[in-house]
Amino acid sequence: MGDAPLLRAENLHKSYGDVEILKGLDFSIGKGENCSIVGKSGSGKSTLLNLLALLDRKDGGKIYYEGKDTDAFSEKDLVALRRNTVSFVFQNSLLLEDFSALENVMIALFIAGFSKKEAWERATEVLESVGLKDRMNHRPKELSGGERQRTAISRAVASSSSLIFLDEPTGSLDEEARFSVENLLFSSPYLQKKAFIIVTHDSDLSLRTSKRYLLKGGVLETV
Ligand code: ADP
Ligand code: MG
Repeated sequence: MGDAPLLRAENLHKSYGDVEILKGLDFSIGKGENCSIVGKSGSGKSTLLNLLALLDRKDGGKIYYEGKDTDAFSEKDLVALRRNTVSFVFQNSLLLEDFSALENVMIALFIAGFSKKEAWERATEVLESVGLKDRMNHRPKELSGGERQRTAISRAVASSSSLIFLDEPTGSLDEEARFSVENLLFSSPYLQKKAFIIVTHDSDLSLRTSKRYLLKGGVLETV
């Protein structure tokens, strides 16, 4: 199992009612790799990410993490996966409203087992790298949409997870905020060893990933 890909999905099927969204889809990503997924609205991109991150149930097929069949995962394995292996960034990610941007990132790191000192160092470094040095002591409601999203992405990037799912992470951002998110994803030292999967309409972003896929007709095509 040592050389199994980080995540592999085989013959994935998912329907909502009578509508078949994923029709035998295969996907694989190795440690430290990145890819982007594009596709029309409604083609099933969010559905796919939710299945791969085990946030939703597949109807058929197999999902393996490091060669381990996730159908055989115990509740404990699922908790460990969510705590240590995967993070998720949504278009409009939820932040804890009673805490500052810095605390939002630090709390996630405490949960993942970092010490207070390590959490502070990682959180400040990542927040600074996305241009939030002067904003990190503000609460989410005092931040712009772009600043909130950069905080949410910082939280995922600073974490120890080896795989980050990003579902249209720059969808609600202006150009300047998009640019800082892009730089974070492709030049942060914290991301060097992480794998990430981005669903995006942003062609600048998708062109920077090493693999690109189109979700069409319920399966992925390489583009
Ligand atoms: P995308 O992210 O590519 O825009 P989605 O994965 O969100 O597409 O949705 C794919 C299709 O599945 C859409 O037609 C959507 O309406 C439908 N869908 C998504 N989630 C649900 C759900 N929970 N119940 C019923 N239909 C859903
Ligand atoms: Mg979507």
